[in-house]
Amino acid sequence: WKNAPHDLGELLDLSRTHDGRLFTILDDERISYAANWRATAAFARALQAMGVGPGDRVAFAMRNLPEWPMVFFAITTIGAIAVPLNAWWTGAELAYGIRDSGSKIVIVDGERYERLREHRAMLPDVERWIVARGAGAVADTTALEEIVGAPASWAALPGDDRPRIAIDSDDAAAIFYTSGTTGQPKGALGTHRNMMTNILSGGFSGARSFLRRGEPVPEPQPRTILTVIPMFHVTACSAMLMGAMAGGNTTIFMRKWDAVRAMEIIEREQVNVTGGVPTIAWQLIEHPDRANYDLSSLEAIAYGGAPSAPELVRRIYEEFGALPGNGWGMTETMATVTSHSSEDYLNRPTSAGPPVAVADLEIRAEDGVTVLPVGTVGELWARGPMIVMGYWNKPEATAETFVDGWVRTGDLARLDGEGFLYIVDRAKDMVLRGGENIYSSEVENVLYDHPAVTDCAVIGIPHRTLGEEPAAIVHLAPGTTATEVELQDWVRARLAAFKVPVAIRFAADTLPRNANGKILKKDLKALFADRESAAA
Ligand code: ATP
Ligand code: MG
Repeated sequence: WKNAPHDLGELLDLSRTHDGRLFTILDDERISYAANWRATAAFARALQAMGVGPGDRVAFAMRNLPEWPMVFFAITTIGAIAVPLNAWWTGAELAYGIRDSGSKIVIVDGERYERLREHRAMLPDVERWIVARGAGAVADTTALEEIVGAPASWAALPGDDRPRIAIDSDDAAAIFYTSGTTGQPKGALGTHRNMMTNILSGGFSGARSFLRRGEPVPEPQPRTILTVIPMFHVTACSAMLMGAMAGGNTTIFMRKWDAVRAMEIIEREQVNVTGGVPTIAWQLIEHPDRANYDLSSLEAIAYGGAPSAPELVRRIYEEFGALPGNGWGMTETMATVTSHSSEDYLNRPTSAGPPVAVADLEIRAEDGVTVLPVGTVGELWARGPMIVMGYWNKPEATAETFVDGWVRTGDLARLDGEGFLYIVDRAKDMVLRGGENIYSSEVENVLYDHPAVTDCAVIGIPHRTLGEEPAAIVHLAPGTTATEVELQDWVRARLAAFKVPVAIRFAADTLPRNANGKILKKDLKALFADRESAAA
């Protein structure tokens, strides 16, 4: 008896138990589990015929299309290493990923191909370009449709077997690039086991709140999930997609995030779960036309990957009758390390939750060795079967970050006596004002508590003698007002004077974020350039 899949091939085969259900939906395209399995098997055979074998890297970049999971599983189930590139990257950045990973076969959608066209000459090692949904025939490329047909025809593909090769759980499966929030994106090399861990830990975490209440754990029911985060991010692929395939969930993709379109989809498809990043929950809450849609099918709105407003937790519960969910993880952990939901989250809205059943956490001092006591802020270290093998092609960064089975996260955090994790800042974002450390989340949480503030970021701006001082950028809810002085007084009444932002700028919209939902704080510093010249 086997309880859980050990590699991506076993997961793909397990997904056949949901053959009659829909696997993905994109607009009018509806792909069943059976159709996905057949196309994946056919494309895996084609890749093998092209000479792709164990350990070879195959890069691909496309928006959230039904082809995305199909390509990912075709590559990984023949033992090759999938390299999902960030579809938001420019042509030059995509070329970097292709070169860095040493991919000889590249699969892209038409849009990405156009971006890469002028870089092709600089990528002589690429032997074959496969283009999905390219407009017309492109010279020297193969159309993905020519190999497996258009998604609408996948269900009719012949063949009832897929290539079978021996895969060890600890074999490399994929290289996911980090978001590049603090520097150049690094390729995290993950194994089959790393990716399967999310299925186990997701199941345990889901059961936890029932067990804590002493209630029987209900049999999991397939759910319809609207995902708004890109599949090239580990949270979407490793946590959401893998979980969907194990549980028979239907994943709905959107061509582009749009609150009205999302509400139409939630109503029409009876979506049970949505989320991805906190911003989208805010945009739904703030939308003036929300009352025109029936969103009562929503059971949970879950997100992670970036700090979120504590107030959001209560608003989700009150305004949608849905349970909020949060989780902490990083590309280096192939997604989920802590998981937070239900009453636990409502009661502790500033926490990212307790570690999943298979993860260990420690808060260590700057020396990277001394373990700090409960309640003390220090650097977060994590250990467990989800920690990746290391960075692709970066031995020095690997040695610094992966130590004795632990990953050094670069996040500053504390744990409470019950094991709940509180992320206070990234070490690189902490504001160093003279001799004082200011954690941006502490100030952000106080700003979020102000009734008008729905989005904000606190950053350090240069100061001649102090080094840095705190500044803030805020977005106010539509129809509300607040002045700089009023917000500064609000913070002053609640925190030590040195933590009060010396300048506050107002953003017309929610703050700009990268593809993975993170505010690029290093880019926001430019907003305060005028003060810098005054300080100099
Ligand atoms: P890079 O490492 O390239 O600078 P990145 O760290 O943003 O980019 P990811 O691996 O996508 O790349 O993100 C992991 C980081 O996201 C964590 O280290 C943490 O700072 C942040 N993060 C993840 N989950 C949460 C959460 N629930 N709350 C607060 N921050 C989070
Ligand atoms: Mg990082």
